[in-house]
Amino acid sequence: MVITVCYEATRSAITAKHKTMTNQQHSHNPYYYSRTDTTKLNISNTVWEKVLPNALYEVARLGSTEITFTGKYWDYEGVGTYYCAVCCNPLFRSDTKFATTCGWPSFFETVRPKSVLFRKDNSFGMNRSEVLWERCQSHLGHVFDDGPSPTGKRFCMNSIVLEFKPDKAS
Ligand SMILES: [Zn+2]
Repeated sequence: MVITVCYEATRSAITAKHKTMTNQQHSHNPYYYSRTDTTKLNISNTVWEKVLPNALYEVARLGSTEITFTGKYWDYEGVGTYYCAVCCNPLFRSDTKFATTCGWPSFFETVRPKSVLFRKDNSFGMNRSEVLWERCQSHLGHVFDDGPSPTGKRFCMNSIVLEFKPDKAS
């Protein structure tokens, strides 16, 4: 087990009540539909604001960070796939998730490494690399170089932009 400590960078308060968000809240989002279509979406934030739940919009489109230990997946150990809560593309497999003490779900590799965009983020006096998903250009979290092998990367994600689906329905 690898224990790492994340930087505590909370840009705006995402309240714990949002962690119980369910799939029904995608009913207004017409872009949440495909696990296989990776065509880039060019949707303005004006539209995203209308179709996404507020808490998801704040993180995915405005780059907010959810409060540590409040997300639904930070210590989740289910076997399956984590999908983008905005566009439904697969982002991470559960076997690339590793335990941390930081309070955010952390992975060492994405499902499709070339579909991730990185952007320098120097806010809060830190040198960080912001992680965005290419298809929907949603902010997922940040990536650090202190992860486990084989990649040495730690994708430190916000639970709210992830949607877990188990391999076997329970
Ligand atoms: Zn997406």
